[in-house]
Amino acid sequence: MSPSIAETTWQKSLAQAIRDPEELIARLNLPSSLLQPALRSVQLFPLMVPISYLNRIEHGNPADPLLKQVLPLEIETQTVPGFTTDPVGDLNVRSTPGMLHKYQGRALLMVSGACAIHCRYCFRRHYPYGEEPRTLADWEPAWKSLLSDSSIQEVILSGGDPLLLTDVRLQELCERITEIPHVKRLRIHSRLPVVLPDRIHSGLLDLFQRLTENGTTVWMVIHANHPNELAEDVEIAIRQLLQTGIPVLNQSVLLKGVNDSVDTLLKLSESLINLGVMPYYLHQLDRVSGVAHFEVAEEQGRELICELRRRLPGYAVPQYVREIEGESHKISLLG
Ligand code: SF4
Repeated sequence: MSPSIAETTWQKSLAQAIRDPEELIARLNLPSSLLQPALRSVQLFPLMVPISYLNRIEHGNPADPLLKQVLPLEIETQTVPGFTTDPVGDLNVRSTPGMLHKYQGRALLMVSGACAIHCRYCFRRHYPYGEEPRTLADWEPAWKSLLSDSSIQEVILSGGDPLLLTDVRLQELCERITEIPHVKRLRIHSRLPVVLPDRIHSGLLDLFQRLTENGTTVWMVIHANHPNELAEDVEIAIRQLLQTGIPVLNQSVLLKGVNDSVDTLLKLSESLINLGVMPYYLHQLDRVSGVAHFEVAEEQGRELICELRRRLPGYAVPQYVREIEGESHKISLLG
């Protein structure tokens, strides 16, 4: 089957993403002194910024909160005690290739090792994606495991970004999963509606619609950290998702210099609920090597959330949580 025009459009957008620090710095009119550190940092974790996202960054402003999420810095190359390559213990709960079984009743599949953006704070920046399944046949051990464990009612598609799979590939995987009688829910974790909104096109929406009509409840969890990320094309994409009847939740990471202020988090939550998206989690930063400069003290995070509670309806205040290896659920940091 040849891909639709909409399918090739998002793939072209992806191909045009900025991967070269020199181009990023030139296009945003940033100081040239940022180049050499960026070149050293990308040796550890490459740069990737879609043009749609680039267009939301203020030119000439090294402190832009969206730029900070994507600009490689020298400080990422430093070793900091307590920051490790697998901070939440993903590799210890890898029950079959591609499948993480961390929490009761849910299994997470690493269906894609690729992302449309490389968030510098990413907790999976060191994950060995190259070892994960690529073909449907590679997924057989995971299907067998899912089939044999009737406690699993929810499968989470993650990665990387699951929406970087083509519609055809995504459909194959979704069909395989939803054939398992005890799987009732499919949850999709994706940053694409926010960073590459043209991925949300009619072919994908039709797929979600079909899954829903066939009795699978689909949940979408997007990832926005700052209100400036919610540009007009992003809002259109999110509205289209919501029109299919799929609930859309948002998760954010609390990031120093990006969203560690009441005003920013307030505006983010208000923008989300105005769209119909539920603010779900505000994650304390996972302590992965190379990201220590993004860490906000838990005490400050608690104060921010308390202030949000004073100013917003309860459903607009995200749960402030930290993931701790070995725990059976995420830990609330509000006590
Ligand atoms: S989109 Fe998600 S998985 Fe990909 S780099 Fe960003 S935080 Fe990491």
